[in-house]
Amino acid sequence: MTQFTDLGLAKPLLKALTEEGYTTPTPIQAQAIPGVMSGRDLLGIAQTGTGKTAAFALPILHRLAEDRKPAPRRGCRCLVLSPTRELATQIAESFRAYGRHLGMTVAVIFGGVKYGPQMRALAGGIDILVATPGRLIDHLGEKSAVLSSTEIFVLDEADEMLDLGFLVPIKRIVSHLPKSRQNLFFSATMPTEIGRLAGDLLHD
Ligand code: AMP
Repeated sequence: MTQFTDLGLAKPLLKALTEEGYTTPTPIQAQAIPGVMSGRDLLGIAQTGTGKTAAFALPILHRLAEDRKPAPRRGCRCLVLSPTRELATQIAESFRAYGRHLGMTVAVIFGGVKYGPQMRALAGGIDILVATPGRLIDHLGEKSAVLSSTEIFVLDEADEMLDLGFLVPIKRIVSHLPKSRQNLFFSATMPTEIGRLAGDLLHD
């Protein structure tokens, strides 16, 4: 059976995984990690509880670490969109846990809280930004967020996003991203409109 040590992940990531008590990748991790590490797009059909967060967080951290550069001012190297603040917070915690020996910066942006701390967090640039769509759109309107240098885009729980009416906000956000980027798309279900959105977003 595949072990994390077989996947070629950077040593600091393997160290964090050992500390987390992970030894064996879940099926979605074993299937997703090699392709995402090589820069390809990904369409993942997976529920919460399958280990899908690590399936994208680990190869993303690996890629950002192997090509180190300063995060763009007011922007990020990797953007993760999540439907709810709870999920956004959990995703950010996973990036922090797995990336703890890599010195990556992680921030979360969601509605219902003050703008000031989020603007200050964005100002200097962050490696990994996890956001809910509504508040991110506000920051784009205020120019406190600029997404033109984003290298990797993750859309998590796409079906939940559409149920919550986020299709138009997602398209708006995507219009701020550079054309050349890596795309990761996750959904628990694949109805027609999700398939169409995936077809629009994924290229490789
Ligand atoms: P997720 O599906 O991303 O919400 O992850 C579900 C839970 O499984 C989380 O609590 C993770 O910490 C845990 N987990 C993810 N991958 C592994 C793994 N390979 N080995 C052990 N636990 C894991």
